[in-house]
Amino acid sequence: MPAPCELERLLRGASLRVTRPRVAVLAAVHDHPHADTNSIIGLVRDDLGEVSQQAVYDVLRALTGAGLLRRIDPPGSVARYESRVGDNHHHVVCRSCGAIGDVDCTVGAAPCLTAADHRGYAIDEAEVVFWGLCPGCSTAHTPEHTH
Ligand SMILES: [Zn+2]
Ligand SMILES: [Zn+2]
Repeated sequence: MPAPCELERLLRGASLRVTRPRVAVLAAVHDHPHADTNSIIGLVRDDLGEVSQQAVYDVLRALTGAGLLRRIDPPGSVARYESRVGDNHHHVVCRSCGAIGDVDCTVGAAPCLTAADHRGYAIDEAEVVFWGLCPGCSTAHTPEHTH
């Protein structure tokens, strides 16, 4: 995890005022890539004490809008956040437990996929979600197994 001064530098670089909730949310997402909102709220509360859900939502929106966090919305899952931004990487999602991992760009640089028929759109990004079972789930023999 980056040092607090590094997180403050990221905020200032994005023209955001440095506040404790912003630093705490950034730190939580750096430490827990692909965390969902509820986990982030829990982590921030561990760090700062009582913080309203709305305050965390507002910070997540501000940080995502400023490009410091990336929001991913796997179909059928709640929104997740990560601090690895700007490289157009993709995700692998476990159908069983919902674990998410990073997958580098499929072929070279963005957009990394060429649509067979781009329908006249100027395409600059392709977002791919790979679905399957994580190692923990694929080796589990009992269907009721959870992590
Ligand atoms: Zn799994
Ligand atoms: Zn990721």
